[in-house]
Amino acid sequence: MSMHIGRHWSSTYQARQRGVVDARPTIEEECPCPVEPCGLVDMDKIDPECPEHSMEAAKTIRANHRGEDCPGASA
Ligand SMILES: [Zn+2]
Ligand SMILES: [Zn+2]
Repeated sequence: MSMHIGRHWSSTYQARQRGVVDARPTIEEECPCPVEPCGLVDMDKIDPECPEHSMEAAKTIRANHRGEDCPGASA
């Protein structure tokens, strides 16, 4: 089972979905990991060199859900 995780606040991504033009790129969009349809990254696909999501980075994860519950996949 995969997990989608993200380090941005969910409000940032929701603002972008509403078309707020000045919403800043999310951490996930700027890092080397592949981005899932929901805007988060799959834990199984994290780039080991990523300074944000790799195990070595050990940074705070603010958003997550199971792959099967992904809002992007069902949209
Ligand atoms: Zn990353
Ligand atoms: Zn997802």
